[in-house]
Amino acid sequence: MSLPPLIAAVCAAMLLLGSAGPLRAQTSPPAISIAVSRAAFRQGETFRLTLKASDDLKSTTVRFAGRTWPLYATGPRTWLTILGVDPTMPLGKQAVTVEAVTTSDVVVRARREITVTKVAFPSRRVTFDPAIQKLVTPEAVARERHAVQEAQRVRHPDALWEGPLLVPVEGRISSPYGVLSIYQGRVSGFHGGTDIAADAGTPVKAAGRGIVRWAEAIPLSGNTVMIDHGWGVLTAYMHMQEIRVTAGQRVEKGDIVGLVGTTGLSTGPHLHWGLRVNGVNVDPMPWAK
Ligand SMILES: [Zn+2]
Repeated sequence: MSLPPLIAAVCAAMLLLGSAGPLRAQTSPPAISIAVSRAAFRQGETFRLTLKASDDLKSTTVRFAGRTWPLYATGPRTWLTILGVDPTMPLGKQAVTVEAVTTSDVVVRARREITVTKVAFPSRRVTFDPAIQKLVTPEAVARERHAVQEAQRVRHPDALWEGPLLVPVEGRISSPYGVLSIYQGRVSGFHGGTDIAADAGTPVKAAGRGIVRWAEAIPLSGNTVMIDHGWGVLTAYMHMQEIRVTAGQRVEKGDIVGLVGTTGLSTGPHLHWGLRVNGVNVDPMPWAK
């Protein structure tokens, strides 16, 4: 049995009216929103950025402090990254911006203001024995850079660590993060980590769960281990007497990765403990609290 044409036409119109609401919602412009864990922080500190999108995205660009930052997927249309600044990066009020392109080629943007506060880092004068100073050659510096790049070539997309990090050795902090290093009367840069003085042979522990990405001697940092903790977080353990892990190995927080020593460009037994967030050297100590 078929309906009279007039009734059929009315029913079709009602169906269309009924679907007008959802149809309009689907065609509302795509949008992204960002949230930051803190709006103000000091040089050497870090913050988290989370991104949520109404639509599927095919590309995203996060810009902050004069560079771009990778994003890590944490759920449906949700991403995260960890950002930080070192003493060489821009200070003061600045924006973190995200530009994304949806799978239907719509460009969407979001921004947040962030204030980076200057820290009056002290300076230290270090004079090396000429024999040790000879280690600092352009070739040695290039090999150091290569090792750090190699260790970050693969970044685990999920967070492998949980809670605060473990300070890898107990001892006196002989040089904190950020100190300007003056070698042979010349400023040679800022201290990219925390130096902890301890007896040679003291076990060095992994700061958190992760995957060893580097476990080899390099000219200036000596026997070096670098651990990928996921989300772009990498810890480094340098100047060790001995390395006790191999690249590719998974480690748990507290596992012994090596022994304190004074290999490479070093004036006595200590551990240089470094932390990078997506390639930027930040202060590891706030991560251990
Ligand atoms: Zn150091």
